[in-house]
Amino acid sequence: MPETTTDARHWIDLEDRFAAHNYHPLDVVLNRGEGVWVWDVEGKKYLDFLAAYSAVNQGHNHPRIVQALVEQLGRLALTSRAFRNDRFGPFCEKLSKVSGYDRVLMMNTGAEAVETAIKAARKWGYESKGVINGQAKIITFSGNFHGRTTTIVGFSEDPVAHNHYGPFAPGFVQAPYGDIEATAKLFDENVVAVLVEPIQGEGGVIIPPDDFLPGLRKLCDKFGALLICDEIQSGLGRAGHFFAHTRAGVCADAVTIGKALSGGVYPVSAFLARKEVMEVFTPGSHGSTYGGNPAACAAAEAALDVLVDEKLCERSEELGTWLADELRAIDSPHIKEVRGAGLWIGLELHESAGGARKYCEALKDAGMLCKETHTHTIRFAPPLVIEKADLEWAVGHIREVLTR
Ligand SMILES: *Cc1c(COP(=O)(O)O)cnc(C)c1O
Repeated sequence: MPETTTDARHWIDLEDRFAAHNYHPLDVVLNRGEGVWVWDVEGKKYLDFLAAYSAVNQGHNHPRIVQALVEQLGRLALTSRAFRNDRFGPFCEKLSKVSGYDRVLMMNTGAEAVETAIKAARKWGYESKGVINGQAKIITFSGNFHGRTTTIVGFSEDPVAHNHYGPFAPGFVQAPYGDIEATAKLFDENVVAVLVEPIQGEGGVIIPPDDFLPGLRKLCDKFGALLICDEIQSGLGRAGHFFAHTRAGVCADAVTIGKALSGGVYPVSAFLARKEVMEVFTPGSHGSTYGGNPAACAAAEAALDVLVDEKLCERSEELGTWLADELRAIDSPHIKEVRGAGLWIGLELHESAGGARKYCEALKDAGMLCKETHTHTIRFAPPLVIEKADLEWAVGHIREVLTR
């Protein structure tokens, strides 16, 4: 078939034949995006209610972000860190000031930022806390999602993500998410860090009890361990605050961010930490060829400016509260629970509803794109630039699909 065909089947067949089958996407083939809208190859328009797992918080092709990236690409894209470039320092300063963390270490993907956090925690444990080399322990949680490297999937409980990728790296112990008493029992002097999602995204927008994060902070203080929050999905406005953990009134020693850090135009991630923690890294002890490149810095600087100037954290909080209330008011026998923080909602269905996938398919046919997470939960996470009228339109379709 010629490439000019408008039949989505053509592209789907090419993918099926030549690409690895490591995803199960909805059968919609997109070729254009603008703000909260995307268009498929057949010209049909959809409201994006997933925002690339929260990478597109600023909306598709935000003109300020695209312009910053394109301008930088026309000038200088990559130097490697063998040399310095004029975008890296100013961007690190901005990110430090906006986030409140002393030091920035830039990587590319979320998983690499988490790997950086694990390396920092262990090195800090041996060199600063005095743990015997090789004995460091990191506490992780049931239902976690931190990325796809072999180390990270080693402490995933999702059998599809984990099985047959071993042998796995030792040094991780798993606590039940949200259960502070059970977590306390795992602490000893070899624990160097707790790695936690303040709200679990892939887990289905799971919000822990109010005492959980403050309880972790207290345990970390008592045992001299680092509290590291993975804010790759929950941060940068998604949960209605710049960081989801500050919503719970705690201060982490370090955080990982990614996804919306570039507004969806370039892979950019970062590990942020207090100075004493970041000081464990010395020349040669960690790095990445593309980490901190000028194009990434230009995109991320503009993406941060958009987040602040367009007050996206505040928007997320305000519109998210409204959306969750509207969804809770839907009278459907299928809805088990609506969990929300900002414009980030997990709508869990009863098992009798027959799985979330078919409702996502029905919503796609109605013109809005969202995706199931695990079997029975639909995650709603539209770009934070969305207008109330578009949310009202979406709620109408969600109501219709869940009550038909
Ligand atoms: C998406 C995600 C990651 C991994 O990010 P990638 O860029 O896909 O490697 C890590 N942690 C959390 C909480 C995430 O949501």
